[in-house]
Amino acid sequence: MTRIDEPLLKEIEAELGEDGVWVAPALRKDVPPAQEARLEEAVVDAPTPTYVVLVELDHRDPLTSGDPDQLANTIRDDTGRSGIYVVPEARIADEPYRLELVAYPEDSGLFTVSAVAGSEHPDDLGAQTLRALELLESGDADRLHDELNGIETGTGPETGTETGTVPTPAAPAGDDGSGSDVAGLLLAVLVLVVAVVGTVRHRRRFPATLPAPPSATGASFTLPPAVLSTVRAAEDRRNEARAQADVLALGEAIDTAELDPRRAASLPAWQAALDHYDVARRILDRDHSPADAVGAIVLAGRGRSALATAARGRGWSPSPGCYFNPLHEGTAAPVRWHDGDLTIRVPACAPCASALEAGEEPSDVLDFVSEGRPAHYFRLDLGPWSATGYGSLDPDLLGRLLDRRT
Ligand SMILES: [Zn+2]
Repeated sequence: MTRIDEPLLKEIEAELGEDGVWVAPALRKDVPPAQEARLEEAVVDAPTPTYVVLVELDHRDPLTSGDPDQLANTIRDDTGRSGIYVVPEARIADEPYRLELVAYPEDSGLFTVSAVAGSEHPDDLGAQTLRALELLESGDADRLHDELNGIETGTGPETGTETGTVPTPAAPAGDDGSGSDVAGLLLAVLVLVVAVVGTVRHRRRFPATLPAPPSATGASFTLPPAVLSTVRAAEDRRNEARAQADVLALGEAIDTAELDPRRAASLPAWQAALDHYDVARRILDRDHSPADAVGAIVLAGRGRSALATAARGRGWSPSPGCYFNPLHEGTAAPVRWHDGDLTIRVPACAPCASALEAGEEPSDVLDFVSEGRPAHYFRLDLGPWSATGYGSLDPDLLGRLLDRRT
């Protein structure tokens, strides 16, 4: 990832003024010089002035906050150059590239360009950008997007579900023009999620690691497989539905919230609310596991808390949830937990703390099925979810999620 400081910004702006294309040194191996030359040719031919900035933005970058819009705004403010800015969105782990097209004056119709180019070349940033430039010139994006959508949401259960990763906007839809498209697409994604959640549960593309087999102490009870899978499936469905509802509600709350610019102290909290929404939305928009759905619930909860704090004009820091189950309500206080030979301090909700005090294991530990048996989530390798206890052991859960690719 690249942080953009003032000198680098000036360098980018100068190069955009020369040939319209800037490729970050870190992306040279993905976008070789020959491809950059083709991009420059396409930019020269573009009917609208077009500026391409290929860089992996860093959400910790104070200048951009990892937001393509913010980078485009800054460049445009500095240089006064209107037109179309093409910048990749910050990625989580190795998810496909997705371009954001920012137009001055505003043009909400560009979403289909990014969606079509993204679905055709998900893993080749140079080819995807070139395709986006072609689509801008040909004007075919809307038609192709409709076709793509028709295929993606097709009637056959065997068609399209494996490629159900149509790029969707990450931020709450604020622009008027594309609202209905966005809503339709989100609905399509929702339908796909429901359709595939049962069959792709073993595929954990986010986090990308496969769960390790449960340890000897991982499974505390055994149910007949059929009963187990029915119980689990119902619970997974409940969590999935709650995750979708919570994240949707957070997006709506962000949309309707009013930012008081005089309360500068609350700006980081606003940003935290947006960031939590963004990451949770993207997790749910991709193929995801039941563990990811629980993670999205946690992120939405943190986003809500950040938003509430921001609305009061204060700074925000996340408070830890219950280590044994992030879905447990109420405040969690540190307790001593004897885990085999280890004694560690973890935050626990009141019922879990009482169980530990009585020398028992909490009765409702979050489990997932691994190799046909339920296992406590913290015994599985679920990436940042298990490593941070869903954020109970590391307040910067979001940072850990976004750091996975560094
Ligand atoms: Zn608990």
